[in-house]
This record gives sequence, C-alpha cells and structure tokens, in this order.
Amino acid sequence: MQYPAPIKTLIAKLAKLPGIGNRSAERIALHLLQADARLSNELAEAIRNTRAQIRYCTRCGNYSVAELCDLCNDPARDKSLICVIERANDILALEKSEGFKGVYHALGGKISPLNGIGPEQLRIAALIQRIKTEQPREIVLALSADVDGDATALYLVNEFKPLGVRVTRIAHGLTVGSTLEQSDEVTLARALEGRKEL
Ligand SMILES: [Zn+2]
Repeated sequence: MQYPAPIKTLIAKLAKLPGIGNRSAERIALHLLQADARLSNELAEAIRNTRAQIRYCTRCGNYSVAELCDLCNDPARDKSLICVIERANDILALEKSEGFKGVYHALGGKISPLNGIGPEQLRIAALIQRIKTEQPREIVLALSADVDGDATALYLVNEFKPLGVRVTRIAHGLTVGSTLEQSDEVTLARALEGRKEL
C-alpha cells in the first residue's frame, strides 16, 4: 500500500533521526495521525522553538538561551578547572556522569586533516584567550580516543606549553574509539577521575 504523499514525507523525515529506522518512523507517523492533534502541534512548536531559542554560550560553547549558559553563570562551578570537549553534546554526557564540577570549552570538533579541519576552524584561539584571562589551574582534555582526538590533544598541549597551565587528559579505558556521548555515566566518571598529566 502506498501512503498519501504527506505521510510519506513525514516518514522519510522521521527516518533521518538517529536511532529511528523506517519501521519506527512509520509507527510514529501513524501514531501522530491517530493521536490528538495537539500532540502534533506541540511537537512541531517545540522543535521550532528549540531551533529558534537555543544558541551557543559565547564563553564555553554549551547550549544556552542567553549569552552565557547556566554552567558559566553558576557560582558553585570551579572556574579554575576547564574541561575541553569537542561538542556541546559532550557537556551533557559529562554532566550526567556527575564527576566534573569545573567549567567547559567546546572546540566545535577536532583537528582532522582527512576531513579538511584544521585548528583555525575550531574554537582554539578563543580557548587560548580564555586561559590567558581566566588563568585556570588545570585544563582537562576530554577528546575522543581516536587518531583525530590524539592529534588534537597533541596540538593543544604544544599550544598550552608557553601558558604554563597544567594539562591532563581523561583516561579512556574501555571507551577507545568511542565518543563521549556513547559512553555511560560510570565509565565517564571513572575516566575523569583517572585523568593523567600530559
Ligand atoms: Zn557557558
């Protein structure tokens, strides 16, 4: 049976979401049709609002509704400890582990010569500026444990050397090759605890 065009479009869009295959997309689309119309409207509005209202914190790159995010504004966070991650999603993963009480700096990715991403495309200059102004006592690198993550860590360590700041990298252990997002809370908390000086 062929679905009418709007349903087909909806299924195709839903199937583009992570973790949702064609079968699930079909189920969700049909559910939306059968459920109260409010659900569809509220879902559409929530997606639109999120895209319209969420921006990146100008200091750390976290998701935020204001210029500075909640973490940067939180007086209880240890501002002398900056954790460097690739993306804002990594902040959410580390926060869930509850193992880190410092602040963050999202690079926007990692150095990847094969994908044409060099240091100048990442928020590295902003990080160096931050280290100069905020004078943190430690920088924790929480980058993925792969070739690009290693290259990025090496580059950063060299950049940080003249700044005289202590640099550590989280122990990846079981998570080699995986991203922070894919790691569970306990593993991340342990990785943070076991971080090593570079
Ligand atoms: Zn922030």
